[in-house]
Amino acid sequence: MGVLVKGLCKDCKYSTQHLKLGSGQNFTSKDRVIICDSCKEAFVVDREMEKCPTCAQPVRTLDRDYMEKKIYDKETHRTKCPKCGGSLVFDAIGKWD
Ligand SMILES: [Zn+2]
Ligand SMILES: [Zn+2]
Repeated sequence: MGVLVKGLCKDCKYSTQHLKLGSGQNFTSKDRVIICDSCKEAFVVDREMEKCPTCAQPVRTLDRDYMEKKIYDKETHRTKCPKCGGSLVFDAIGKWD
């Protein structure tokens, strides 16, 4: 169960996949979003990662506490867009179980 999050850049219209934050059936907890500026993608991961699993370049991490606080407070989270360097806004789009 968890929350479904999506990031959208207003500048270049890039949008992330639907990112599932929370705990799955096997109780693994995916609670971090990492953003890779080389792959120009955002992923959800289940543990701390300093490097991208795809290209091994350093990544930016948004942790769950931060995301949840933002989401449950109905604030949006802005971060640098991996595609254009503009403003990528994260928003909760639903829940999953
Ligand atoms: Zn952008
Ligand atoms: Zn990468």
